[in-house]
Amino acid sequence: MSSLFSWLTKAQALLSPSITPCLTCGKRNPGSSPLPGVCRICVEAIPWISSPRCLKCGRHVGCPDCTRSSEPSPIICNRSAVAYTSVMREWLGQYKYRGNERYGLLLGLMLDRAYIALKEEKRSALLSQKTLIIHSSWSADLLVPVPVSDSRLRERGFNQAERLADVLSKRRKIPQLPLLIRTHHTGKQSFKSRAERIADMKHAFAENPAVTAQFADWMKRKVPLNRPVRIIIVDDIYTTGSTIRACADIVQQMGSDYGYRVEVYSLTWARS
Ligand SMILES: [Zn+2]
Ligand SMILES: [Zn+2]
Repeated sequence: MSSLFSWLTKAQALLSPSITPCLTCGKRNPGSSPLPGVCRICVEAIPWISSPRCLKCGRHVGCPDCTRSSEPSPIICNRSAVAYTSVMREWLGQYKYRGNERYGLLLGLMLDRAYIALKEEKRSALLSQKTLIIHSSWSADLLVPVPVSDSRLRERGFNQAERLADVLSKRRKIPQLPLLIRTHHTGKQSFKSRAERIADMKHAFAENPAVTAQFADWMKRKVPLNRPVRIIIVDDIYTTGSTIRACADIVQQMGSDYGYRVEVYSLTWARS
C-alpha cells in the first residue's frame, strides 16, 4: 500500500511538474496555499495567534508578566503572528542562522497578516468609541526595525527585523526608518534571567543620529495634527518584551523632543 502510495505521489509529481517542493517540508503536496512556496499542509499547521489571551503583549497563553507589572509601559500593545513552537523555531533558524533567503518573504507575509489583524482590531475599537469617521480606517504611520549590533550584522549579513519590515513597508506603503542603533552587543539573551535581560537592555539602544533630521522632516510633513503619531517597532521575536520596551522608550523620547504625541506599538513575527 505504501509503495503504491509513493508511486502515485511520484506519478502525480510527473504529471504536474508545476508543483515545486514545499520550502518548509520539501514535499510536493498538491493544492494552492496563501503563502508562496509553502504547501497547504504546512500552512494549515502554522500556530497563528488569532485572538491573543493577553491584550497587552499579544501572548496566546495566560500572561503573568503583564498582570504582575505595575510599571507603565511605553507601548500600547504587542501583536505577534505566531506562537514560537519548535516548528516555528526551525523556520526562523533556517532564515536567520542558515541564511535561507527564501524564508524572508514568507516570514514577512506572516507578519503582514498580524498587521492586518492589528489594523482591524484598532478599527473596531475606534468604531466602538465612535471616534472614527465613516470610511476612514486605522493604519500605522511609520515602521522602525529593532537594530542588530555591527558585529551581528557582519556575521549574519542582514538585519532580520529590517527585512521583515521591508515586506510590510512595500505591501502596505508604510515608510520605514532606522531610528535606532544598537550601542552594544548583549550576547545570547536566552541564557539570561528576566532581571538580567531587563538590566542589559536598558542601555543597549540609542537614537540613530544619521536619521534624526530625516525623522524631524518626516514628522513635519506627514504627521496628522488631530491624532498621535503611530509608530510600529518590528522584530522577529517577543520574549520578555525588554528589547521592545527599551526601543519604545527611545522612540517616545524622540517624538516628544519634537513636540509630538507618539503611540508606539510592536509587531513581532513570533511570541515565545
Ligand atoms: Zn510543506
Ligand atoms: Zn502579557
